[in-house]
Amino acid sequence: MTDGTVFVATCDLAAQVRGRAAPAARLPQTLRGGVGWVPANLALNCFGDLADGHLFGSVGDLRLVPDADTAIDVPADGSTPGLRLYLADQTRLDGSRWPGCPRSALREALDLLRDTAGLEIHASFEHEFTLQGGGEQHDGPPFSLQRARAAEPFGTDLVALLEQTGLEPETWLPEYGSGQFEVTLRPAPGLVAADRAVLLRELVRDLARRRGHRATFAPILDPASVGNGVHVHFSLRRAGGAPAMYDPQAPGRLSDLAARFAAGILRHAPAVVAITAPSPASAIRLTPHRWSAGGAFLAERNREALLRIAPTVEIDGGDPAAQLHLEYRAADATANPWLVLAVLVRAGLAGLAQDEPARVWPEASTEADLAGEPALPASLPEALAALEADETARTWFPRELLHTFLTVRRSELDHVEGLAAADLCGKISDVY
Ligand code: GLU
Ligand code: MG
Repeated sequence: MTDGTVFVATCDLAAQVRGRAAPAARLPQTLRGGVGWVPANLALNCFGDLADGHLFGSVGDLRLVPDADTAIDVPADGSTPGLRLYLADQTRLDGSRWPGCPRSALREALDLLRDTAGLEIHASFEHEFTLQGGGEQHDGPPFSLQRARAAEPFGTDLVALLEQTGLEPETWLPEYGSGQFEVTLRPAPGLVAADRAVLLRELVRDLARRRGHRATFAPILDPASVGNGVHVHFSLRRAGGAPAMYDPQAPGRLSDLAARFAAGILRHAPAVVAITAPSPASAIRLTPHRWSAGGAFLAERNREALLRIAPTVEIDGGDPAAQLHLEYRAADATANPWLVLAVLVRAGLAGLAQDEPARVWPEASTEADLAGEPALPASLPEALAALEADETARTWFPRELLHTFLTVRRSELDHVEGLAAADLCGKISDVY
């Protein structure tokens, strides 16, 4: 590859993908030593402002070192040149880990999962987004062919692009909300799955722009309607790949190990939600009856659960052991995917170390049955305070990262202070 440029990117604490381009002719040098980066960039909030009270000054230098395995090639399209894109780790100048790097935080969590529990995690991030503009009406009925056709050629081009870039698309569908669509990808090893989530959002936005639309992944556009969720499907496997979540005799067919992992996520739910649903608008989506996540409980095939035991397909001898997995429903695309998976692994590991298996609510449970289950944090300030107050959760991330995360997210709260819910949703949608 000698033509054009390569872009080396990170995804930051505000889930913004930022980075630098280098000439393709210098690719070997770029792969070896990365491109320059600045510590204070970590303190940028989603509105592009440096958060007051952050830890970094005007000094210091880092490298964004591309991970060669993450390369994707977006083909040229009309007058838009093609793009080689790499995701990168943020390192010190000697290549050692920089504690503020979110991708390194996920690597560390995955290493801990392997070293302390002998487990690997496979995951897939399911994304919803809303397509706007383009002179077409995307408001055909929910789930309808009409709406899918109205979004053409975007939909077909998107599936082709995801296939070309190796993201392994599974389905593309018109969703329930006005102008809302969903895309699902095949499961992949944890780091690959989170990388794909970072890439998917950028590919969708980029293609939408080229086709004359705007795609927004904002958690909710209209406080009276449904939101755009990110559901994290995950399964635990023994080293070598054997499934570790399935026990046909257990409640929900969930193994003791999986139910204790789930218990950790439920016990730390307020802190976990602070990481996975971290915008000032996120909590509006996480309220009952929106099929997002209406409470901190584990249930069989229930779309109001924080943790849903997903169905298995047994047509034609399909093996349930290989399919049974959990779906964490309280994430959205204002969250950094590396941190989302890292926090689920950390909370799950805390559960393996300390907890009894979580109670599995059967599919037939009623709202009255579930009434005693804890609610999710009612607002971002509440979630951030819970994260700060959770002594275990505080150990999951280096101080540089956690302190900056809290500072960045609180600066976004300051930015939208006093806005009515509808205006707040609009403001967040302008960014995501
Ligand atoms: N839109 C829902 C959410 O905010 C998810 C609907 C579904 O796919 O189950 O998470
Ligand atoms: Mg959906």
